[in-house]
Amino acid sequence: MGRPSLSERLARQHAEREAAHARRRLLAVDQRDGVCLWREGRCLLDFASNDYLGLAQHPAVIAALCEAANAHGFGSTAAHLVSGHHRLHVQLEEAIADWLEQPRALLFGSGYLANLGVIQALLTTDDLCVQDKLNHACLLDGARLSGAQLKRYPHADVAAAGRQLRSMPARAALLATDAVFSMDGDIAPLRELAGLARAENAVLYIDDAHGLGVHGPQGRGSAALLGMRSDETPLQLLTLGKALGGYGALVVGSDALVEAVLQGARSYLFTTALPPAMAAASLAALHIARGDEQRRLRLHSHIARFRHAANQLGLPLLESATPIQPILLGDNARALAVSARLADSGFLVPAIRPPSVPAGQARLRITLSALHEDTQIDRLLEGLDAALRSSKVTSDVSGHG
Ligand SMILES: *Cc1c(COP(=O)(O)O)cnc(C)c1O
Repeated sequence: MGRPSLSERLARQHAEREAAHARRRLLAVDQRDGVCLWREGRCLLDFASNDYLGLAQHPAVIAALCEAANAHGFGSTAAHLVSGHHRLHVQLEEAIADWLEQPRALLFGSGYLANLGVIQALLTTDDLCVQDKLNHACLLDGARLSGAQLKRYPHADVAAAGRQLRSMPARAALLATDAVFSMDGDIAPLRELAGLARAENAVLYIDDAHGLGVHGPQGRGSAALLGMRSDETPLQLLTLGKALGGYGALVVGSDALVEAVLQGARSYLFTTALPPAMAAASLAALHIARGDEQRRLRLHSHIARFRHAANQLGLPLLESATPIQPILLGDNARALAVSARLADSGFLVPAIRPPSVPAGQARLRITLSALHEDTQIDRLLEGLDAALRSSKVTSDVSGHG
């Protein structure tokens, strides 16, 4: 017999993926003009991006990027602890700590890298990591990397999280949750989780990738929206890749926890620091995200408009007060068919399938931006209604379940 063939297994997996309508494809954008995304010669209205405040192409952000690139060049040339740490990185860290009223912040290459590094740095194989089942993949990967005992509770079930913490009282524990769940759009019961963490002597780690700039006073995020004090959120992840329109991420919280992350996170220690010009651009984006209340209000008025009309049409909306508005369809083939039909009508709305969501819960994931016009949202709803009706007919006829 001998060794099984890796190539043969990969070919088999590829064929299975095709058959299950689960193969993902890359599509390149030629040009982006706000919410108009040019691909293969046509403009698609973008309802797929996480640029909630429309900062990815904001003139002030681009100007900051160019100015800093002219002054400091392209790369940071080294890891932070070698010679790559730049005063622009420091300014960005200080600005975000000030915004969130936290003692300290640490800049990472991306949110994914930060979550890997935070959990790996804080926990050992003797510890416990309790997480929501629907947490982002990088929180799970971080726990795996740390070697800690990982327990996952049913979505948003605080009582179950409590049972999991109490089941291992001899282990130091981290309780980690998304603040806004990225494929569902709902907000975690952060206050209750903070109370639980306090009662069980665990550290609460909140991943607010989708909340920063979107929720709360001055856009300080989901915890601030729920009225939590800064000492109730000892450690948070904020990405620069969503509402701030850029790339990179910050871990923000108490001096002791951020220091432990700095000393131990391998995805911080052993990677090149972000280009300083990226930090300068993020600083410009941060000032707008913090200060431009009109932009935030416009986003929230779009969310309300979309939900009101979608409910009137009877669309299968999930409960979400965030820019993430999923429409649950269940079947992979149907989600793909509706997404393809929407693309034909000029709307980019991605079909999200396993493994990004549990099996049988394929969905359309619509994201809204302050850049959208009211009329564009209205047209999307008309397009959705038509696409959903026609896909129902097709799947009834073909028996495609
Ligand atoms: C997008 C996302 C991340 C990853 O952030 P990046 O900066 O894109 O790597 C982490 N957590 C959650 C909940 C996210 O949605």
